[in-house]
Amino acid sequence: MKFSLLLEQLIEAFRCLPGVGPKTAQRMAFHLLERNRDNGLRLAATLSSAMQSIGHCDSCRTFSETPRCKLCSAGNRDASKLCIVESPVDMAAVEQMGTYRGLYFVLMGRLSPLDGMGPEEIGIQPLTLLLTKGHVAEVILATNPTVEGEATAHWLSGLIKPKGIRVSRIAHGVPLGGELEYIDAGTLARAFEGRDVL
Ligand code: ZN
Repeated sequence: MKFSLLLEQLIEAFRCLPGVGPKTAQRMAFHLLERNRDNGLRLAATLSSAMQSIGHCDSCRTFSETPRCKLCSAGNRDASKLCIVESPVDMAAVEQMGTYRGLYFVLMGRLSPLDGMGPEEIGIQPLTLLLTKGHVAEVILATNPTVEGEATAHWLSGLIKPKGIRVSRIAHGVPLGGELEYIDAGTLARAFEGRDVL
């Protein structure tokens, strides 16, 4: 059945979300219209301002609506340690562990030539800038233990080690193919403690 133009557009708009097929999108649109218009309006307003205002931190590249994110501007972090992760979600997972006090760099992806993700896309320029400032003594590679995550870690290691910076890779306890965000804080903490120097 075809609905009105605007309703069709609303259903179609929900389909941009991961895992949302036509049926689910239809259910979401009807739910908001039938029972939840106030929340629907709030969702629309929040989506609009978030999409327009959230950019990336100048230093670590995580999502931030200020030029420098809260963590980077806190001034109480150990600038000699830099943990490199694939996404802001992974950064949150490491933070949740509660033991890491260093800084971060978020690749916003991983090397994947077939998907158009090369060195530029994962932030080679801002990363090099961060490393040449001279504060970083150790880089912890916490990319996901997937094939692409491992390849990215290997590539980064080759880039960073010649600069005389200690490079280590989280290893133990992180299951192969497991994404950091799904690993419990205890396992991740052990993976950090048992990291291998490359
Ligand atoms: Zn930052």
